[in-house]
Amino acid sequence: MSVIQSVIDKVKQLDPDQNEFHQAVIEVMETLEPTTRRHPEFVKAGIYERIVEPERTVIFRVPWTDDKGKVVVNRGFRVQFNNAIGPFKGGIRFHPSVNLSIIKFLGFEQTFKNSLTTLPMGGSKGGSDFDPKGKSDGEIMRFCQSFMRELFRHIGPETDVPAGDIGVGAREIGYMYGYYKKIINEHTGVLTGKGLEYGGSLIRPEATGYGAVYFAAEMLATRGLDFKNKLVAVSGAGNVAQFAVEKVNQMGGRVISVCDSNATVIDEKGIDNDKCCYLMELKNVHRGRVREYADKYKTMCFDGKNVWDVIREQGIKVDIALPCATQNEIDAENAAALVKNGCICVAEGANMPSTPEAVKIFQDNNLLYGPGKATNAGGVATSGLEMSQNSQKLSWTREEVDNRLLIIMKSIHKSCLDAAEAYGRKGDYVMGANTAGFIKVARAMLAYGVV
Ligand code: NAP
Repeated sequence: MSVIQSVIDKVKQLDPDQNEFHQAVIEVMETLEPTTRRHPEFVKAGIYERIVEPERTVIFRVPWTDDKGKVVVNRGFRVQFNNAIGPFKGGIRFHPSVNLSIIKFLGFEQTFKNSLTTLPMGGSKGGSDFDPKGKSDGEIMRFCQSFMRELFRHIGPETDVPAGDIGVGAREIGYMYGYYKKIINEHTGVLTGKGLEYGGSLIRPEATGYGAVYFAAEMLATRGLDFKNKLVAVSGAGNVAQFAVEKVNQMGGRVISVCDSNATVIDEKGIDNDKCCYLMELKNVHRGRVREYADKYKTMCFDGKNVWDVIREQGIKVDIALPCATQNEIDAENAAALVKNGCICVAEGANMPSTPEAVKIFQDNNLLYGPGKATNAGGVATSGLEMSQNSQKLSWTREEVDNRLLIIMKSIHKSCLDAAEAYGRKGDYVMGANTAGFIKVARAMLAYGVV
């Protein structure tokens, strides 16, 4: 049996219920087969077996008091996956679906993504099954403080540097950083995504969405294409989606959709800059639902459906798809409909938004398909730039950070294509991203001996 198959079998046998983690491991491992032949030293050193096992997993109780005085208990997680090339680094997710499988899949992906950024960052991820929806600011603050009351002992600027993810934006980072500072008595770059007044970086909020669009533009350029006048479907309406919409508008495309977990809005006239500003205020200030956008602009709105279901059911033409909501949002049926409706490019703003069957359909139909670990790496790359500014006690201009982000996204795009070609699968971004990300981490692990 190949080393790859035995690693996959062992992961399944050890944790039979961790479906999302299995999915991420299989997706990466199956593309690494050629590296086992080219690098027998990795096989001998057990790199494949070691890279699927987190360095450390912490699970903890998060008790907090709601506005009625009732004590509520949630579960907190931090999975420190791999720190071969730098301190652990990865976001925190607050969502009721969070469990160990989801945090492990995200931490595993993060290891390869962070390696691709060219910056010295290992991979980790954390979160809680806490649902921020409908909670008051006071409840959010008390939860964040309780979460940090345990997390602080496992993180540090040279150990593990968390950031935001689903359900964790500027407000939550502020509460968590404020509490960390209070108990550690140090002002230090232990979280990224901080406010500009207390160590944040310009362009960090924009970076994941902007980066995904920069990556898509690089993919399109390989076929002599660009965003001008293209119909673009975006899913989600949070941090990544909002800035993907903004950047597509700047590049001359027309965004026709956004969604949240309640509904999908289809705006065939396009979500232009004014409407995008309204969406940002609706979501970030009023914490409202996308249905309110549909009511204001009299657009179509489909309750209880995601963007990809609506595109399939309504036969909506799409040139470029930017899934920016959550994992496994595009299944095989919806992928086939995207192909049928004319889609030429899929760039993932979210982590693992396409099921394995959907990815196969995109690749079999020769779409430009950019996997999340490459296309959404701009967020963590800019977090890396925030860490650099914090350690130098400097703040770079908006132009400087944006320019560095663009250079990093171009470099990730090139690394993917170079690795895919070098390992015999020219043009395959999935294989290229996994291989390029893996080789750097594997070489560092080899250098350390068995640790
Ligand atoms: P966010 O600000 O919390 O936004 C998530 C959006 O997706 C919300 O509009 C949410 O709707 C929607 N959504 C969540 N689950 C959904 C579902 N099942 N069906 C339909 N809509 C759903 O989070 P984010 O930071 O934009 O993250 C989005 C994705 O990007 C995640 O996969 C995350 O891991 C990935 N990512 C984020 C970053 C970053 O820098 N933030 C970096 C790399 C990758 P509700 O408001 O109804 O929940």
